Amino acid sequence: MATQISTGTAELRDIAKMERIGAHSHIRGLGLDDRLEPRANSQGMVGQAKARKAAGMALKLVTEKHISGRAMLFAGPPSTGKTAIALGMAQTLGPDVPFTMIAASEVFSLAMSKTEALTQAFRRSIGVRIKEETEIIEGEVVEIQIDRSLTGATKTGKLTIKTTDMETIYDLGTKMIDSLTKEKILAGDVISIDKASGKVSKLGRSFARSRDYDAMGADTKFVQCPDGEIQKRKEVVHTVSLHEIDVINSRTQGFLALFAGDTGEIKPELRNQINTKVAEWREEGKAEIIPGVLFIDEVHMLDIECFSFLNRALENDLAPLVIMASNRGMARIRGTNFRSPHGLPVDLLDRVLIVSTKPYEEDDIKQIIQIRCEEEDVVLTPEALSALTVMATQTTLRYALNLISCAQVLARKRKAEKVDVEDLRRGYVYFMDEKRSVQWLKEQQGSLMFEVIGDEAKDSM
Ligand code: ATP
Repeated sequence: MATQISTGTAELRDIAKMERIGAHSHIRGLGLDDRLEPRANSQGMVGQAKARKAAGMALKLVTEKHISGRAMLFAGPPSTGKTAIALGMAQTLGPDVPFTMIAASEVFSLAMSKTEALTQAFRRSIGVRIKEETEIIEGEVVEIQIDRSLTGATKTGKLTIKTTDMETIYDLGTKMIDSLTKEKILAGDVISIDKASGKVSKLGRSFARSRDYDAMGADTKFVQCPDGEIQKRKEVVHTVSLHEIDVINSRTQGFLALFAGDTGEIKPELRNQINTKVAEWREEGKAEIIPGVLFIDEVHMLDIECFSFLNRALENDLAPLVIMASNRGMARIRGTNFRSPHGLPVDLLDRVLIVSTKPYEEDDIKQIIQIRCEEEDVVLTPEALSALTVMATQTTLRYALNLISCAQVLARKRKAEKVDVEDLRRGYVYFMDEKRSVQWLKEQQGSLMFEVIGDEAKDSM
């Protein structure tokens, strides 16, 4: 069966990305310097230096394409920045490198099998950079590269020609050569073509530094003319994920499924055909594979079938860097009666690079609270900042961060500009942290429903 393989640049509705606006919206990168050393407080990141550096090193390996199909595990207590670091990695990668984020529990959906869900996540994390030749559209700004032998100039380079006329572009070759030899236009100069007469004139180097040139540059396209002839074609490069190519070429789904996000299962035969086609494009120099990053949060929620799938999938040529996070210690591997560190089978653990995240020191907590306050446009009095820092050490960082906006509501109610200790105290009374909630349950002495849970059921949760 011959399948037409096509690509598209449709914008995906990405739920994971939408979730980032919120708890982690202050994270703008990993906050590392050029030597991958973590800065104390940069790009919204504070502390957790070792883990940030490890994350930076892994990214370097991915972007320089030395590794793909490797796996990393961030393991550490809750609220120690595992997700924040993963999102920092996503921000550091260029727009062309795919980053996919899933929570392990998303894999257990009724709409598709677990392995299909994981396969889709893998293929969403592999980019294909495709070079395509397209026609010049009338009215576009065209950049023309001139061969040294034509110009007689000592340097070669690019000349920018602004024209709105299709005919002018085709007619340009001879006229430009005349003009170039007469006016001694050098590489880097900008020339314009008169629409009516087709006359080529030199705008001079100063124009190249002017705002007009910048504005032009944004839309500049390339035309190669090594033999003095203006070619009708130009090259356009765009990156799509393997999953997008799968969906667009899936008969049952079609590209509209990309907007709905409901892509359903994709047949393995189609994927094979697409892999073959992409391999052909690579050989012909039309496409390049960009291995990206797949982040699986709460990885202990996967089961033994998923883990065995991961083991195999990581060996595939077209595998991304897989980053996992877990806050579990020794836990049961779902689907088995065995316990293992972080709830991961030892054969998988054996192949991952494990990075641990540690609870924050008081000073780091204070800085994270300050960053969040700036992000949420909340001003704390110095006393409130100290009080909230102490609260975070005694409850959890996440609880303290949640309290910021609650305390702001309370401060506004009393028409105060700044949040003070009293607002925090009242917020603390209204909203329980985890420890007090457990204490409260104990005090209820079984008056809530469904409290008695057997060991077996407890384990499977
Ligand atoms: P869990 O195991 O419960 O999923 P986690 O380790 O993934 O927790 P995060 O969700 O990343 O923890 O962190 C909790 C909150 O603290 C988030 O709002 C996060 O953005 C922020 N945070 C954590 N670490 C840092 C850090 N090093 N710098 C700035 N903000 C941080």
